[in-house]
Amino acid sequence: MAYDRGDRGDRNDRRPGGNRKGRKKVCSFCVERVETIDYKDIGRLNRFISDRSKILPRRVTGTCAGHQRELTTAIKRARIIALLPFSSD
Ligand SMILES: [Zn+2]
Repeated sequence: MAYDRGDRGDRNDRRPGGNRKGRKKVCSFCVERVETIDYKDIGRLNRFISDRSKILPRRVTGTCAGHQRELTTAIKRARIIALLPFSSD
């Protein structure tokens, strides 16, 4: 049945440019001691959306849980006021 998740995939890093070894990912907002993420700061928000305007998951960006929450809220707000696209193909 559901054996497709049997391998946790620790060894096969399929992401492009996968030099994950030895590099501990830290939340960039924690590093900069950002407490509230500004939804108008699209220069920053742009780094956390994919080329198809999707919000990147935590495991890709290394953002901590708390900041990821802030980030998604900020990105959604930015979309509503048309600073960021909802989707782009
Ligand atoms: Zn953080």
